Amino acid sequence: AEVAAADSVVVIGLGRFGQALALELMDNGTDVLGIDEREDAAQSLNGLLTHVVQADATKEEALRQLSVHEFDRAVVAIGTDIEASILVTSLLLRFGIRDIWAKAVSDPHGAILEQLGVGHVVYPEKDMGRRVAHLVRGRMQDYIEVGDDFALVKTTVHPEFLGRPLGETGIRGRFGVTVTAFKREGQPWSYATAETVLEPGDTILVTGPVRRAESFSQRM
Ligand code: ADP
Repeated sequence: AEVAAADSVVVIGLGRFGQALALELMDNGTDVLGIDEREDAAQSLNGLLTHVVQADATKEEALRQLSVHEFDRAVVAIGTDIEASILVTSLLLRFGIRDIWAKAVSDPHGAILEQLGVGHVVYPEKDMGRRVAHLVRGRMQDYIEVGDDFALVKTTVHPEFLGRPLGETGIRGRFGVTVTAFKREGQPWSYATAETVLEPGDTILVTGPVRRAESFSQRM
């Protein structure tokens, strides 16, 4: 019970996805109880997470002993073993855990998780594949689709928009996108305003509808 503090998450399955997720949570100050049935997976994270336990998470008794039922948030990061993923997820749902995130390795797997009532089903490989496609196609340094046809793009600046205030470039009217922030080498990110004058080598964050954000970033 000591682990189930206010800001804590239980991560079940410490493969590549679960490990990266658990470590990132720790980095940002969240307590993590990590569970994996493989001894090597549990051992490699020993001391790096708040608690790491080697256990078969499909066993209700094992989860209860670890006070998993007292957590508000849980991540099921088991993918390859779809049966285990479904069994563990249904146990967590039965416990009444409010916030459940589960990783799906395929559309049918995801559909089952959604049918069970999981609030957040994530498709890491599919999402990453789609995201990388956008990066491969253009000059973008990063691309995040936020849903409902809107995207955030990190990119360089076309020479046309350098050396004069952003407000005078007419970017918003002509391209339907907004330059939200910019970064000069060696300096932190700053918000862009109508007065911001971009220089060669600057990096910008552009937001807008997917097509428009992408075509704006594609300009050579
Ligand atoms: P990734 O692609 O992120 O490495 P995997 O699905 O291959 O994901 O790995 C999931 C992890 O979940 C593995 O480390 C595996 O040992 C663990 N795991 C699978 N079944 C169980 C279970 N019943 N209880 C606890 N951990 C499990």
